[in-house]
Amino acid sequence: MIQYKTDKEICLIKESSLLVGKTLAEVAKLIRPGVKTIELDKVAEKFIRDHGAVPGFKGYGGFPNTLCISVNEQVVHGIPDKRELKDGDIVSIDCGTILNGFYGDSAYTFAVGEVDNETLLLLERTKESLYKGIEMAVSGKRIGDIGFEIQNYVEQFGYGVVRDLVGHGLGRNLHEKPEVPNYGKRGTGVKLKEGMVLAIEPMINLGTKDIIQEKDGWTIRTVDRKPSAHFEHDVAIRKGKAEILSTFEYIEEVLNK
Ligand code: MG
Ligand code: MG
Repeated sequence: MIQYKTDKEICLIKESSLLVGKTLAEVAKLIRPGVKTIELDKVAEKFIRDHGAVPGFKGYGGFPNTLCISVNEQVVHGIPDKRELKDGDIVSIDCGTILNGFYGDSAYTFAVGEVDNETLLLLERTKESLYKGIEMAVSGKRIGDIGFEIQNYVEQFGYGVVRDLVGHGLGRNLHEKPEVPNYGKRGTGVKLKEGMVLAIEPMINLGTKDIIQEKDGWTIRTVDRKPSAHFEHDVAIRKGKAEILSTFEYIEEVLNK
């Protein structure tokens, strides 16, 4: 069942989503060759708790940490550990918070040091595909319109759209109905209505769409071991134009310094 939200509830989700954006900006300050992914996780957990919230992923389904940190060929759900980021890596950082009973959930993929141009383009175009999808996230459109836009945009570059992992509704629960695939057909699927809040999160591979789960039971990586990018925003369905509840503004302020 789809949980429709009141404006007041949407405000609370926005507060939680903004805290995720601020947390990712704190993490962005530390991303450089030599930093251990577990160090990023610790900073994020402290920042979230210092702001009166709780990490949304820690303990969710047994996930052990605050951040999902996925490097290069890892798509999503990477577990922070002693691995050091190195020059030329890309790193997807996915963060969730619970604030005032509502989840925020947003992700950004960062370049570490000097990254080759082909991979930088993958990051740029995956982020662009997220905004293409968001343009369709308006009252009267359908879930398939969002997926179609994302898929149509990235496949022109020969990229693979991950099928097995999808976006989702968001609210008092991290994963609510409906599912939001990053592929689809125009005019199909659930009709979008005001009061719906969706996490839209394209996971786009430089190579094929095929993925596999590592033996740790969490980490998802590409089968061909080519890099994968992931960007995620939380949006409220409105008439005419989606309201983006999360933000990359704080992150990009750090990156542009
Ligand atoms: Mg996420
Ligand atoms: Mg999500």
